[in-house]
Amino acid sequence: ATPLSVMVGTGKGAQAGVLIRSAEALETAHKLDTVVLDKTGTVTEGRPVLTDIRPADGFTEHELLRLVAAAEADSEHPLAGAINEGARARGLAVPSASAFDSVTGKGVQATVDGRAVLVGTARLLADVGTDTSGQTEEAAEFSAQGRTPILAAVDGRPAGVLAVADTVKDDSAQAIAALHHLGIETVILTGDNARTAAAIAGQVGVRRVLAEVLPEHKADEIRRLQGEGRTVGMVGDGINDAPALAQADVGLAIGTGTDVAIEASDITLISGSRTGVVTAIRLSRATMRNIK
Ligand code: ADP
Ligand code: MG
Repeated sequence: ATPLSVMVGTGKGAQAGVLIRSAEALETAHKLDTVVLDKTGTVTEGRPVLTDIRPADGFTEHELLRLVAAAEADSEHPLAGAINEGARARGLAVPSASAFDSVTGKGVQATVDGRAVLVGTARLLADVGTDTSGQTEEAAEFSAQGRTPILAAVDGRPAGVLAVADTVKDDSAQAIAALHHLGIETVILTGDNARTAAAIAGQVGVRRVLAEVLPEHKADEIRRLQGEGRTVGMVGDGINDAPALAQADVGLAIGTGTDVAIEASDITLISGSRTGVVTAIRLSRATMRNIK
């Protein structure tokens, strides 16, 4: 594109809250045939709320939540925030934990009241040999509702399941429908479990889901899609998303996300609007049409 048409395109983008950081990004966006959306904070609000507490035998709701909140107190994960807010709202006194350790993309462990508390995915608990078959049904029930089940083990034994819900963004379905209308395929990419991801995908009309992807493998999934001959846009907001944003042909960061994500991206959607993805692609198509 000519410098003038790039200036015009970039200027129109800025007016619409779409900050295009390079001429190359504006030129590449018209070729996108696939847009990958991070689930948490991109398709959803990214403000999870504790909704359910189902203790296993030998635990009360409050005892389970107290232990889990203590183990999560030092975690920076949004799910940990939801759990601690849930404990606070119920007026629970959360004890302090020691020996805190986080397992990226899986959960946390800590010692609370002299007990070993492990909190996270079914896979994390299975990794240490905890049998969670008693929690499978409840976890499936939460997942089917699009909620994230969080399992807990205390001293190696199952202690129950919590569920956390994150509302779908009100403009997600609209943005996804508009992308489909432009002939672009959409994919949800997430570390969350496959059933929860499928339920959220169903709510917003996305047909393809890449779930249970560890943070360090998100960029690999983008590379794999590119290997299928696709030109891939990636929309994300978090620290975990930076490598995938950088790997994508065009990385689009939600403006309310982390600085790391914004730095790794080619386009920033300020005001956090999901329809900005559509605006960016339309602008790119218009810019490239003008110069042909
Ligand atoms: P996302 O793709 O949504 O950013 P992550 O890779 O951060 O997901 O985490 C993947 C999954 O690991 C979460 O859905 C959750 O089940 C589990 N998990 C990660 N961190 C925690 C935590 N601090 N507490 C409980 N579960 C966690
Ligand atoms: Mg994330």
